[in-house]
Amino acid sequence: SVVYLNGQFMPAEDAKISPMDRGFLFGDGIYEVIPSYAGLCVGFAAHIQRLQQGLAALEIRCTLTAQDWKELVQQLIQQNGAGNLGIYLHVSRGTDSKRAHAYPQDISATIFAYCFDIAAEPEADIDKAPRYKVMTSTDLRWQRCHIKSTALLGNVMHHQQAAALGLNECILFDQQGFLTEGSSTNVFIVKNDVVITPPLSSQILPGITRQLLLNMLRQHSTIQVEERPVSKNEVLCADEVWLTSSSKEVAAVIEVDGKAVANGEPGTLWLQAQQLFSLYKYEE
Ligand code: PMP
Repeated sequence: SVVYLNGQFMPAEDAKISPMDRGFLFGDGIYEVIPSYAGLCVGFAAHIQRLQQGLAALEIRCTLTAQDWKELVQQLIQQNGAGNLGIYLHVSRGTDSKRAHAYPQDISATIFAYCFDIAAEPEADIDKAPRYKVMTSTDLRWQRCHIKSTALLGNVMHHQQAAALGLNECILFDQQGFLTEGSSTNVFIVKNDVVITPPLSSQILPGITRQLLLNMLRQHSTIQVEERPVSKNEVLCADEVWLTSSSKEVAAVIEVDGKAVANGEPGTLWLQAQQLFSLYKYEE
């Protein structure tokens, strides 16, 4: 495959980064993953905006503008066949051999992008829908989960808890028992035809799929939507549970901690939500 590194496109084998890069030594960087189908990206502007916000939060200087990113990503897509691609963007603080914790002021960011093959676009079809089985756990990550840091070990360890049990995701609750998010997804529940998801905070990633879906539900449906704290009991008693992420779009959960969600099948509001998402996802 063809990748981008620090201003140049090259074969993946030729892309070399120093082990002194702070992305490697400290996890000191920001990343994004943007889905692209037949050359069209989903939520591109929002993903770039979140990337820029993360870089600003970490005071990483990167001079690429939204337009620069757009051109970079378009080139990357074309050079990799323009099929179903996940576009990975990564900016680390850069290379510094002194290994000081404080941000070095005299280094330049390492900018890397590559693509990987992803499944075809998710479909709004009950028969074909993936059925997710999840577990619950206490959220043991840090208190800056709104920053899309490359330091993903907290998320990786939670995901592994689920994977080790043959489950698809681990959904997390804070010390007070309120829902935060999944290890790589945002979480929604449905109760009595109301769609509910936790409000943005420093304990969850502001998911692009979450935001696009909320906007679509409010603009293009009469479904009632609430952003408010969700207790563990509400998740366990929900009529529907969904996971959202760029690759999954809206995914139905059929089992939580070994117990079926309602009748154990994707629900009717899930179908409507994924239909809306399929219809409007290229519009913003
Ligand atoms: N939460 C976490 C922790 C994630 O890693 C992801 C995937 N980026 C999400 C939520 C979903 O975000 P998005 O819809 O932007 O892919």
